[in-house]
Amino acid sequence: MKQQYIDPDDCRKEINMILLQLHVTGIFLVCGKSFLALSIHDLLHKSCACAGIKMVYFSDFAPNPTYDSVKAGVQAFRESGCNFILAAGGGSAIDVAKCIKLFAEMKCDEEYLSQKIVSNDIPMMAIPTTAGTGSEATQFAVIYVNGEKHSIEHESALPQYVLLYPDSLRTLGDYQKKATVCDALAHAIESYWSVHSTSEGKQWSEKAIQIILEYAEKYMMGDESCYGQMLLAANYAGRAINITKTTAAHAMCYKLTTVFNIPHGHAVMLCLPEVWEYMCRHLDACVDTRGEQYLCSTLMDLAHCLRQDSCQEAIQYLKNLRNVWQLGMPAKVEENQAAELANSVNTERLGNFPVSISREHLMDIYQCILQGEAVK
Ligand SMILES: [Zn+2]
Repeated sequence: MKQQYIDPDDCRKEINMILLQLHVTGIFLVCGKSFLALSIHDLLHKSCACAGIKMVYFSDFAPNPTYDSVKAGVQAFRESGCNFILAAGGGSAIDVAKCIKLFAEMKCDEEYLSQKIVSNDIPMMAIPTTAGTGSEATQFAVIYVNGEKHSIEHESALPQYVLLYPDSLRTLGDYQKKATVCDALAHAIESYWSVHSTSEGKQWSEKAIQIILEYAEKYMMGDESCYGQMLLAANYAGRAINITKTTAAHAMCYKLTTVFNIPHGHAVMLCLPEVWEYMCRHLDACVDTRGEQYLCSTLMDLAHCLRQDSCQEAIQYLKNLRNVWQLGMPAKVEENQAAELANSVNTERLGNFPVSISREHLMDIYQCILQGEAVK
């Protein structure tokens, strides 16, 4: 499905046109509470008031949203009588909105997760307010069921309309900015080395990395003229993972979030250099059908994208970034926690990683992450 990207400079007119064309009578707005303080919310609110379109708000979900909060959202959507879903926020808000859309027309006397997803034509627009997840560009959603990560994938989860509105990044704090940039960077890098990589996906990754290298520092210094670029970088990286899916760093980071309460982008940055290091030491365990030589040259290309001369330098670059941004391991670690973490990793996601990793190796990598040591 093709997505329509709305011009931020002319968004009021374009959005009004879309709402009119689709005969929208009510917008179900899935958003975090901070969205209400943004100028784009004011603009939407005024437009809807002028057009006599009601807005129903749903914010009853937490970061790393649960299946139960999605269920409550589906019920609220049905009761609202709205015929348009607007997802505004970070990954959590957009993922909740995607699930509400996917489940909206399912039987409500059966668990949604055990029913087959069928496409529906409820229109959905996404307005990301962090430059990180790129969720507005993917057909995936992540929710948590009894504390376990659950991935949902369906083509009708891809929002038809996307607005990258630069001013939406205005309220982000420094830590959030760092963590979300790391998430976007990890998406671009993991997509590039994924066994499912394609030349189109690699181009999206390269563009995302280029923008991050060019603008991340200014962005962190508070330069507002970079907001639009950073939203684009996250979006491009999202497009890349929509083709390839993520790999080992993502597979390993989810449990760090649930066990240690580390935000997603920070958690993925704890794993990314270490899994790259592991890969370089185990190229002979390559499972990419294009072969070990191909993998070596892909990793070199990736190092060059990061403006480094070798994989070792690229890995060091990521570690330095992590140090400078103070995104180390924040929690105290208990013995045997590496084993617990290793056992929790979803092996399906590891299948996208170009070298095979056993449970023992996962444990070793976690040990290094937890202790801050180099991977063997
Ligand atoms: Zn991510």
